[in-house]
Amino acid sequence: MNLHEYQGKEILASFGVRVQRGIVAHNAKEAVDAAKQLTQETGTSWHVIKAQIHAGGRGKGGGVKLAKNLQEVESIAGSIIGMNLITPQTSATGKKVHQVLVAEDVYYPGDSEPNEFYMSVLLNRSTGRNMIMYSTEGGMDIEQVAEETPHLIFTEEIDPSTGLLPFQARKVAFNLGLSGAAFKEMTRFVSALYKAYVESDANLFEINPVLKTSDDKVMAVDAKVSIDDNALFRRKQYAEMRDLREESPIEVEARAVGLNYVDLDGNVGCMVNGAGLAMATMDLIKMAGGEPANFLDVGGTADAKRVEEAFRIILKDPAVKAILINIFGGIVRCDRVAQGVVDAYKNMGDAIKVPIIVRLQGTNAELAKEIIDNSGLAVHSAVQFQEAADKVKEVLA
Ligand code: GDP
Ligand code: MN
Repeated sequence: MNLHEYQGKEILASFGVRVQRGIVAHNAKEAVDAAKQLTQETGTSWHVIKAQIHAGGRGKGGGVKLAKNLQEVESIAGSIIGMNLITPQTSATGKKVHQVLVAEDVYYPGDSEPNEFYMSVLLNRSTGRNMIMYSTEGGMDIEQVAEETPHLIFTEEIDPSTGLLPFQARKVAFNLGLSGAAFKEMTRFVSALYKAYVESDANLFEINPVLKTSDDKVMAVDAKVSIDDNALFRRKQYAEMRDLREESPIEVEARAVGLNYVDLDGNVGCMVNGAGLAMATMDLIKMAGGEPANFLDVGGTADAKRVEEAFRIILKDPAVKAILINIFGGIVRCDRVAQGVVDAYKNMGDAIKVPIIVRLQGTNAELAKEIIDNSGLAVHSAVQFQEAADKVKEVLA
C-alpha cells in the first residue's frame, strides 16, 4: 500500500526521523492558514507547496513550487489543487490533485551549502536481507544515476540477527562525504530511518532528497513510503491512511469482494486459481501472441458467484478482447467450476461479448468439458495447456 508524502513523513517523524515540516491543505485558504502556522512554529517566511499524489517526479511536472509570501502561497496552492498533474511517473492523463502539503522552506542560506542525497531502505530479494541504498546524487532520478554513474550508488546490507550496527550508520555518513555535526546528524538519521522501516512493516522507504541543510541538519524533504499489505492487519493506524482515490478503481472493487486482482495493459483477461498457475497462464497468453490484461487469482472457492464476480471485474477493462479461464480442480471439482461458468454466463445475460476459453484440469475434468460443450454457449473448452494457447491464438486472430 502506497502512501502520500505527508503520511510517509508522519510515520518517519513518529520514529524520530527529522523531516521537513508541513501541514496538509485542501484549498487555498487552508494553505494560507497552514503557512501562517508554520511561520509561527518554525520561523520560516518561505514555503514550498507540494502536490500530494501517489507518483514521484512532481517537481518536474510543476507540482512542487516555492512561495515567498502569503499571496504566493494562496495563488500557487489554488492553482495546484484541482490540477491534473502529469509527471514522468504518472500515465499520460496524469492524476488529479486533491490536496497539497504546505512545507517550510529548508533550502535557506547559511554557513555551508545545502546538499541533497538519495536514500532508500528496501529488501534485497537475492540475499533476503534489508539494505540501505544511498547516493551522493540526491534530488535526481535515481534510475538515471544507476545507469550513468553506478559507482555513485552505495548499498549497506543489514544482518537481521543484529539489526543495523552503529559502524554501518557511520559508514553511510562517511561515504556521503560528511563530517562534524552533519556526520553525527546523518548517523542518527540513518539509525532512526532503519528502525522506522522495520517497525512499520514497510516494503519501501525512498527519501529523495535527504537534505543536509546549510546549518548541518539532516532531514527528509520527500518520502515515498509503501507498507506491506500483508501487515496491515496489525498496523491499523497505517491501514486507515489508504487513499482509494489514488488506486485503480477496478483493483479497489476486486479487493472489496476478496479477489486478488492486478490491472495490466494487455488484451486477454484471465481468471485462474492459485498465484503460480496465474503466472504460468500469463506466460501462456504471451506465447500465444496476446498480452495479459490482468492478474487474477480467484482462490480456492471458484463457485458460480465468485466466477461471476470475477467476470464482472475482468469485463470492466475495455481492452479485454478474450478471456481465458484456467482452473485446476483439486479441492474444488472441475464440474462445479464449469457449472459456475455456465451459470455466471447465463446470469450476466449479454454482458459478455468476448470469446471465452475455459481450461479445467484435475478432478472431474472430462465431466466439466461436457458441461461446457453442451451448454450451447460461445465458450471454447480446452483440456491441455497447449490447446488453451492455440484457442487464444485462434480467437485473437
Ligand atoms: P518529487 O519531484 O515528486 O520527487 O518531489 P520532492 O519532494 O522531491 O521535491 C522536488 C524538489 O523540490 C526537490 O528535489 C527540491 O529540489 C525541491 N524542494 C523541496 N523542498 C524545498 C524547499 O524547502 N526549498 C526549496 N527551495 N526547494 C525545495
Ligand atoms: Mn523526490
